[in-house]
Amino acid sequence: MVQFAEKIAVVTGASRGIGRAIALELAQGGATVIVNYQKNAAAAEEVVQQIIAAGGSASSFGADVGLEEGANGLIKYATDTYGKIDILVNNAGTTRDNVIMLMSADDFDSVMQTNLRSTWLCSKAAVRAMMRKRYGRIVNITSISGIMGNGGQTNYSASKAGIIGLTKALAREVSARNITVNAVAPGFVMTDLTSSLPEDMLKKLNENIPLGRWGSVEDVAHATTFLASDAASYITGHILVVDGGLAM
Ligand code: NAP
Repeated sequence: MVQFAEKIAVVTGASRGIGRAIALELAQGGATVIVNYQKNAAAAEEVVQQIIAAGGSASSFGADVGLEEGANGLIKYATDTYGKIDILVNNAGTTRDNVIMLMSADDFDSVMQTNLRSTWLCSKAAVRAMMRKRYGRIVNITSISGIMGNGGQTNYSASKAGIIGLTKALAREVSARNITVNAVAPGFVMTDLTSSLPEDMLKKLNENIPLGRWGSVEDVAHATTFLASDAASYITGHILVVDGGLAM
């Protein structure tokens, strides 16, 4: 069944990894998808071409969503081109891991900007358009690091915990306009973001995951598209953990 027919969806950081899988799954459901990227235009265009080849509709838009002009430009592109935004997935994210003694203030600010500030900026711009239509689905990609904390990631964990607070506050603010705001909290998923972890750490991490494996990008995409769909219309302010049981 086509769940997202006539829907316009913006996915930040959709050129690679989890964002790419979310963009493909939304498009498969019938949504027109705006594939945002920061640097990797060729990879974003590949995602667009893959969607079009499968009979879907998509376009790419390069913007640093941690910057006000980038986030506003992305949302303006979507509304100018397609007339509305139904779905916003705030997925763009990065890490700059280190123990706090060796982490610079710049490492802290930069991760907060890319992960948390971007989520606030894109949500702010999109909510304006969603309110006019009295319809909206916002899904923020947080992390179990924002729930459990993770040593070596004081910046990343703070940004992801911030996204959880933002999700709940915004859910309360916009609920009367038929806009839901939820978050997905993945555990460990193999992407460019996690590919540099040493082999022994990977093995140790696996032993702690009750389901005994890392998540796939599709595992995260399934949860995200559920929260973006009308099947989840009575769910708001929820943090859906997708981690093989790791954080329980
Ligand atoms: P990834 O493979 O490194 O991909 C990151 C994506 O974000 C790329 O498309 C990148 O664009 C884009 N991006 C980075 N900074 C941006 C910015 N300032 N403006 C716009 N786009 C930007 O990462 P991933 O593993 O798929 O992670 C996606 C999300 O899931 C992140 O929020 C991450 O924190 C979260 N998450 C991941 C895991 C995991 O285990 N992988 C676990 C929990 C949560 P370019 O290609 O142009 O660089």
